[in-house]
Amino acid sequence: MSASSVPSTRLAPQIDDLLTCVHCGFCLPACPTYELLGDENDSPRGRLYLMRAVAEGRLEVEDRSFALHLDRCLGCRACEPVCPSGVRYGTLLAHARAERTTVAGALGRIARIPLDLLFASRWLGRIGWTFLRLLRASGIPRLVARAGRAGRMPGRVRFAMAMLAATAPRARGKLRRVRRPRRRRRAAWRPDVDAAGPPDGDLLALLDGCVMWGLFRHVNRATERLAHAQGARTARLPAGQCCGALHAHAGELDVARELARRTIAAFEASGATTLLTNSAGCAAALKDYGDWLRDDPAFEKRAQWIGKLVRNASEWLAERPRLSYRPLPARLGYDAPCHLLHAQGIDDPPVGLLLQIPDLDVVKLPRSERCCGAAGVYGLVQRRLSEDLLQRKLSEVVATNVELVATGNPGCLMQIGAGALVHRLPVEAVHPIELLDGLLEFE
Ligand code: SF4
Ligand code: SF4
Repeated sequence: MSASSVPSTRLAPQIDDLLTCVHCGFCLPACPTYELLGDENDSPRGRLYLMRAVAEGRLEVEDRSFALHLDRCLGCRACEPVCPSGVRYGTLLAHARAERTTVAGALGRIARIPLDLLFASRWLGRIGWTFLRLLRASGIPRLVARAGRAGRMPGRVRFAMAMLAATAPRARGKLRRVRRPRRRRRAAWRPDVDAAGPPDGDLLALLDGCVMWGLFRHVNRATERLAHAQGARTARLPAGQCCGALHAHAGELDVARELARRTIAAFEASGATTLLTNSAGCAAALKDYGDWLRDDPAFEKRAQWIGKLVRNASEWLAERPRLSYRPLPARLGYDAPCHLLHAQGIDDPPVGLLLQIPDLDVVKLPRSERCCGAAGVYGLVQRRLSEDLLQRKLSEVVATNVELVATGNPGCLMQIGAGALVHRLPVEAVHPIELLDGLLEFE
């Protein structure tokens, strides 16, 4: 701490927002890191205090405590809906993390490696994602994931392999029967004819995203098929178009803003009236564009406008007529992605949709609102805390005696799916949209 520190250039302009915190402490019980560590500095109130100290020049940006406690924050935003003052914690965290990145913080340095490799250019991204899909198809990641002793905390490499294995299309165990016979899959999806959907339907722009496009294409195509089944027309934004969520999370706010501008321009060019995404993290970021670009006169209004047109696939589908699904006799636990529940306030639509599947016993996992520890690259850079949160989540999965866990965010799918793999639990993690599409009746 130094009385002569220079006020932060990124946090100082946020001082009005920082001052909305009245230190009431209502957010403390909602915070997973405060629950785990019991340290005020690892609570929302403590982190806001550190941010304010940096903004006012009372604390150096390079101060170890600022780095340590910000890096430990999951960015789960569970502190936002419980805050009576409406503190916009997620936006403030993005600015604080951007400050950390400018001084090359640990999280920023590590997070930047995959971000730079996969997102630096579209072609580099294509090569990187293709390599990962080939690696996944080889079966090696699954073998590595299951090679160690169950019950022991896996190392970073083993866990990364498990996360990759967990992105595979669902074809195992209970989910084998979810896949439509190939002949019916072809009949249901004819890209040459259906790419634009029925002639008079609403036009939806589909955000394929980056991780969703790279590793969860099957979920993107499932979203498209369900939109067509509801009579909508669809237009895809450019392949691999990243919304900037991961960059903002890792402190690369300037890159995130540039990606936001590109996404806005691509959406405007599509002529669509709705922007549909199946990733909770992407939808939350798109709804934050107005905040990210509020100092950009050319984009501020457009960013606010796009935020109003973004819909999660589950909420969009839940508002439409019921489709017919084949029965699935199984027990499923729903886990709410933090960026769907806390950042967007969407709770019931995914559960309501899953309840439309005959014979499927759907329960919400106990403490479904608690973060699973995925949080972007958190699982790789904060292994111990992430594993603690994952263990708690897996204990709740086991206690609920479910065979399937449904959650609508790529990070959560990878975290819970990887945890089930390395701990050899008879549980599969699946995206609700993939499940619904796989069981859709066409006659
Ligand atoms: S609940 Fe809101 S106002 Fe109260 S301490 Fe937490 S962030 Fe500050
Ligand atoms: S974002 Fe999550 S981990 Fe970070 S302070 Fe808020 S509740 Fe705690």
